[in-house]
Amino acid sequence: MKEDYYEILGISKNASAAEIKKAYRKKALEFHPDKNPGDSKAEEMFKKSAEAYEVLSNPDKKARYDQFGHAAFDGSGGFGGGSMNMDDIFSQFGDIFGSAFGGGFGGFGGGGGGQRRVKGSNLRIRVKLTLDEVANGVEKKVKVRRKIQASGVTYKTCGTCNGRGQVTKITNTILGRMQTAATCSTCGGSGQILDRKPSDADAQGLKVSEETVAINIPAGVEEGMQLKVPGKGNDAPGNGIPGDLLVAIETIDHATLKREGDNLHYDLYISFSEAVLGTSKEIDAVGGKVRIKLEPGIQSGKILRLRGKGISSINGYGNGDLLVHVNVWTPKELNKEQRDFFERMQNNENFVPKPEKSDKSFFEKVKDMFS
Ligand SMILES: [Zn+2]
Repeated sequence: MKEDYYEILGISKNASAAEIKKAYRKKALEFHPDKNPGDSKAEEMFKKSAEAYEVLSNPDKKARYDQFGHAAFDGSGGFGGGSMNMDDIFSQFGDIFGSAFGGGFGGFGGGGGGQRRVKGSNLRIRVKLTLDEVANGVEKKVKVRRKIQASGVTYKTCGTCNGRGQVTKITNTILGRMQTAATCSTCGGSGQILDRKPSDADAQGLKVSEETVAINIPAGVEEGMQLKVPGKGNDAPGNGIPGDLLVAIETIDHATLKREGDNLHYDLYISFSEAVLGTSKEIDAVGGKVRIKLEPGIQSGKILRLRGKGISSINGYGNGDLLVHVNVWTPKELNKEQRDFFERMQNNENFVPKPEKSDKSFFEKVKDMFS
């Protein structure tokens, strides 16, 4: 059972955006790994607070969470709420703390222990997908303006921290001498400083370059999910590692097909005569039209299931189905001849409803669909 995001941040459900931000700031400072080295409980809390903030600071995600709780983000594999790593968390800090954390060079990769390598900042883009693209997965090529190390740039070891990225401070307190580690302010924690700076480079030795990045979007993604293309964010200076490209998924509604999980729904309207005599109809489906056959005497409300014609599951559990809802259109106006015919048929044996077991009630059909 996951903890409530509001409880993690210690705020009420009607906290304002400013209160949410303030609460997160407080938790992040309290549990920051630099302040709690080697404390796995603090790190856990640090991650939980970041996850809670990531959801509650985003109006769309917050609305989904308020309505559905953690279920809003379940079944989404490595996407959505529950998948933040330390890099994501530090990259989020720019919004919260300005430049107070992460130095001038973005956040830190790796986390806990040993030499830390600076990580370049993440880039964010949105990608719009049609239902066909969602159903089958697609490769999208996007132009990205990312910062890369300028050609000819060189870096050298920072003299202040001797390349460690951290400086130790000894302070005298009433408890005795205390040794604390702090990020080196000269190099911002990277352990390296700019040596030779080409004229087209910025203060970190980087310059903007336009690149085409191919993004493989798996089948079954949903609106609001986020994909990560590792290493396609901004470069870090020196021997740091590049940030990531974060891709927010947006979906374009289909004109006639409605998505529900991995299944698709289609409303089919047929005439009274077609229901009586049987017919064949062309309907929309993923990737084009399909023709379906309707037996004579088909009932209004019948749901035809076209197996595997839905969306590919993002978890790789096969395909959803296309469910065709049959609606029989009852004529609203009749001429004299038609009226006479139906009046004669009113008590005709063939026109009296005789539901059979196979003509399941609406509720039984719904139950079937979810079982
Ligand atoms: Zn330094």
